[in-house]
Amino acid sequence: MTWIEEMRENVTSVEELERHIELTCAEKERIRAITDRYPMSITPYYLSLIDKNDPQDPIRKMCIPSASETDLSGSFDTSGEYQNTKVKGLQHKYAQTALVLSTNVCAMYCRHCFRKRLVGISDAETIKMLDHIADYIEQHKEIDNVLISGGDALMNSNHIIERLLQRLTHMDHLNFIRIGSRIPVVLPSRIYKDKELLGILKRYAANKRIYLVTQFNHPRELTPKARLAVERLLYNEVIVSNQTVLLKGVNDDPDTMAELMNRLTRCGVVPYYVFQCRPVTGVKAQFQIPLLKASRIIDETRSMLNGHAKRFKFVMSHEGGKIEIIGVLKNSDMVFKYHQSKDIKDSGRMFIQTVKDDQCWLDEVYEL
Ligand code: SF4
Repeated sequence: MTWIEEMRENVTSVEELERHIELTCAEKERIRAITDRYPMSITPYYLSLIDKNDPQDPIRKMCIPSASETDLSGSFDTSGEYQNTKVKGLQHKYAQTALVLSTNVCAMYCRHCFRKRLVGISDAETIKMLDHIADYIEQHKEIDNVLISGGDALMNSNHIIERLLQRLTHMDHLNFIRIGSRIPVVLPSRIYKDKELLGILKRYAANKRIYLVTQFNHPRELTPKARLAVERLLYNEVIVSNQTVLLKGVNDDPDTMAELMNRLTRCGVVPYYVFQCRPVTGVKAQFQIPLLKASRIIDETRSMLNGHAKRFKFVMSHEGGKIEIIGVLKNSDMVFKYHQSKDIKDSGRMFIQTVKDDQCWLDEVYEL
């Protein structure tokens, strides 16, 4: 079976889901109501990872809709993505980095997705004009790297991926290209079975360094198939790095997080970021953890790890930039530092802010 045929078997309705998992009438009604608003699509592979006897299973939480998605608190665009759109399908927030939204499709729709306003719903910010995007990048020499994202960048056809890489890898001012994809986690066969894709990646990686940035959130996602996909990428000259999202009920304990980081480094994946979950409508109520607690989880995780496994930065993607969460100073005073900033005056700026016990985000960032 090819990966496209595999995806035709995706579970997208309550009727299909109940063939795999026992659901009460109330649950069925709830899921129906939620999927009218936020689509559900789960690959059979990812569904097979669920512990069906555990209603609190972390894998289940990341793919099956829950009642808290109807909570309307939060926002749909928490880091100002709309304002940073320069050409249809291209965002330019930090001087050095261009973000290409190459598709609005994903292999699976994660319940914690921060682009919940985009995936599977609208193509308003997604790519239609690859050449316009490439022209913009070519004219902006301050850009030294491009992140091809989505949706999921590996949901593009091999032809589109090749077209993008062809243009981008020939631009001298770019140091490297990143491909943002959760495919190694949710549909690894798209990588390990597709020799054509691997050949394309290897060919263009000879010209320009290519990184695949993925999102493993739980150690159980690192299955033999997922590890095989990672191995094939590494073998074909693609460096794999990981951005984990800290999620309530999924990985919000130091043992799970430490095991995840250790297993990532064991199979050659670079632990790059841990993200504080954003206050996204339909996500916040279910998955966000208060900042003070989150910081303690990360500190305790780090205390169990070697230097290699704790290379990740713990950050939040704020409107003004990527803010590193350094830690708790005393009582409820927390230390933060701009890791990347939209405004150059904030670059590297550190600040202390007092946060409340239940506060999960910085609604305002104070000037010094
Ligand atoms: S793969 Fe990424 S963009 Fe797609 S639903 Fe999951 S988190 Fe969102």
